Amino acid sequence: MQAAIVTGERRLELVDFIDPEPSDGKAVVNVNFCGICGTDLHAYQSGEPYNPAICGHEWTGTVSAANETVPFSEGDRVAIGIATACGDCPTCRRGDASHCETALAGLLGIGPLAAPHGGFAPAIAVDATRLYHVDDKLSATEAAMLEPLTVAVHSVRRTGVHLGDAVVVIGGGPIGLLVMQCARAAGAGTVVLVEPQAARRELGGRLGADCLIDPSACVLQEAINAHTGSTGADAVFECAGVPETIGTAVSLARRGGAVSLVGLSSRSSQISSAEWLLKEIKLTTSIGYLPEEFAVSQALVADGRVELKSMHTSTVSLEQMSDAFDRLATNPEEVKILVDPHL
Ligand SMILES: [Zn+2]
Ligand SMILES: [Zn+2]
Repeated sequence: MQAAIVTGERRLELVDFIDPEPSDGKAVVNVNFCGICGTDLHAYQSGEPYNPAICGHEWTGTVSAANETVPFSEGDRVAIGIATACGDCPTCRRGDASHCETALAGLLGIGPLAAPHGGFAPAIAVDATRLYHVDDKLSATEAAMLEPLTVAVHSVRRTGVHLGDAVVVIGGGPIGLLVMQCARAAGAGTVVLVEPQAARRELGGRLGADCLIDPSACVLQEAINAHTGSTGADAVFECAGVPETIGTAVSLARRGGAVSLVGLSSRSSQISSAEWLLKEIKLTTSIGYLPEEFAVSQALVADGRVELKSMHTSTVSLEQMSDAFDRLATNPEEVKILVDPHL
């Protein structure tokens, strides 16, 4: 069986793997869709070494075979999540199961919880502790977007948005658009989206942003203050993954406000520590999610508080993926491209 793997700068190859087997603790999933994440795109553009296990980590499908030891059966609709805490690693033993090192390693594609390849493949065998059942109310394309949605859910839960808060989201990519919707669902009063691309601002407006700001066309801080009563935002989410916007996020927050780093950048960032201290910023960072947060995500989609359909802009085959990467890099109208490995 072949899986699409990013193997270098602008190089995507169909690599041979042994056919997936439902060995002890594992289930084999027939992949319906796998979303292309910004991390996949970054690896393709930069050529930085990329772990094959996470090349394609937003997938959903149907169980085609399950080991007798796992709580899944053939035909079950499932999606990829994170294992429950192991209870045995040093962090679990210190009583902090939400930061289990074993579960995180699986998420990062390391150790026994990692599969040999990602979801850009017709089928995948994965440790069943990383799977969860998909709600009947959700379509397969919605299920394929539960992974990035749960990244957003996790960041909003960690940051703590309060009823009536003025929230600014920097970056209108998939994660920013999802954080925006989750912040609203969490009770935000005003939600402002800062995004330079018109097409993405327009989508942000359809998905519920109260205010859309083009940072290249205004003095950003003045524009934000106009919407927050001149004091700055209660919470600012940095979802662009750009080092320069980390400082911007702090500048846009009110004194005592929260700044949440969600976007991932491999470059380092300069900060103004005096501004951070004077403002007594509450800084939160987040990566991934907790197992129970997938139920939160599914409920948000099932009852319509989060809308995923309009974020799905294209479906492509494995062979069309290079072209899809190029479109994601150059066409802001492309938001979430799903790969159907059976096309
Ligand atoms: Zn991702
Ligand atoms: Zn642990």
